[in-house]
Amino acid sequence: MKNIIFLGPPGAGKGTQAKVAVERTGLTHVSTGDLFRAALREGTPLGLKAKSYMDKGELVPDDVVIDMLLERLEQPDITAGVIFDGFPRTLEQARALDETLERRGAQIAAVLLFAVEDEVLVQRISGRLTSKTTGEVYNRYFNPPRDAAGNDISDSDEYYQRPDDNEETVRNRLRVYHNQTSPLIAYYRERGVLHELDGQQEMADVTRQMLEVIGA
Ligand code: AMP
Repeated sequence: MKNIIFLGPPGAGKGTQAKVAVERTGLTHVSTGDLFRAALREGTPLGLKAKSYMDKGELVPDDVVIDMLLERLEQPDITAGVIFDGFPRTLEQARALDETLERRGAQIAAVLLFAVEDEVLVQRISGRLTSKTTGEVYNRYFNPPRDAAGNDISDSDEYYQRPDDNEETVRNRLRVYHNQTSPLIAYYRERGVLHELDGQQEMADVTRQMLEVIGA
């Protein structure tokens, strides 16, 4: 079982790069943000509980996130290993992950830190668009969705902006990242598994570096 963590602030490219990594490695993509959004769409108690935190750009409490994650790791598609995207986000979550992997005789092979400056993140996130049918993520400014003739179709009903992708919530998400998540950088560096990537390069260059680090 090979486990890799994609660490970094919101908008750093973790989700986009995770999709490429999954295609190349056969590992399973586990995004706790996607799991919460799916729970919310289905209207489950978990989704409703997470919503108030997500709307404010706060972290969902550790016990809720950890329970959901452990349950996800029980699914049969996990055998080859996981690309963790957006988890862990606190030291408590990191410790819980270490414990559960240890119980399975597994460990974390690599942690990739996607480094991007705050102002770049705010701009990126404010342009982020998701396709309702494919879930594919675009960017109004940097990578707009296009029709067959090449016209920019960012304003089509097919694409929506995540409710927590507005500037005020994004600024709070960045504060939360710096306060609660960035201590994980030292945590994994001390374990010798941290690899820092320049997330501000062209997307293809980030992908190349990412694939090199994960050995794909
Ligand atoms: P993301 O899609 O990773 O940006 O996550 C969206 C929102 O879901 C976050 O702003 C949090 O409210 C919540 N969330 C996702 N993952 C976690 C986590 N590991 N710990 C706490 N909250 C999380």
